[in-house]
Amino acid sequence: MEPAELQNELVSAEGRNRKAVLCQRCGSRVLQPGTALFSRRQRSSRIQLFLPSMRKKPALADGGSADGDLLQEHWLVNDMFMFENVGFTKDVGNIKFLVCADCEIGPIGWHCLDDKNSFYVALERVSHE
Ligand code: ZN
Repeated sequence: MEPAELQNELVSAEGRNRKAVLCQRCGSRVLQPGTALFSRRQRSSRIQLFLPSMRKKPALADGGSADGDLLQEHWLVNDMFMFENVGFTKDVGNIKFLVCADCEIGPIGWHCLDDKNSFYVALERVSHE
């Protein structure tokens, strides 16, 4: 599918997620449809784009790993209670990574402690249904 086509399928006219957001590994439901806003971060943004490679939670908190991806497309969630299920790592600097609440694989996104009302879920790190 073309990127624009894919985006059209995932993002509603209001800029919200048309589909539920699920863990890619175990299918645990992370977000209900319509609970997040599509957000594309530019490379010049001060907002972090880099997410470490997916792994089990304890390894994530070790930090120090340079392998990962620059991800620009995120679902922005403004309230932690909008999540159906989500887990967090320990603080890594001023960041907490989001992981699946069931299988603890992540990061599927991140949360900056400086901005209490912004939770980012990377589109490439989750399934949509
Ligand atoms: Zn999972």
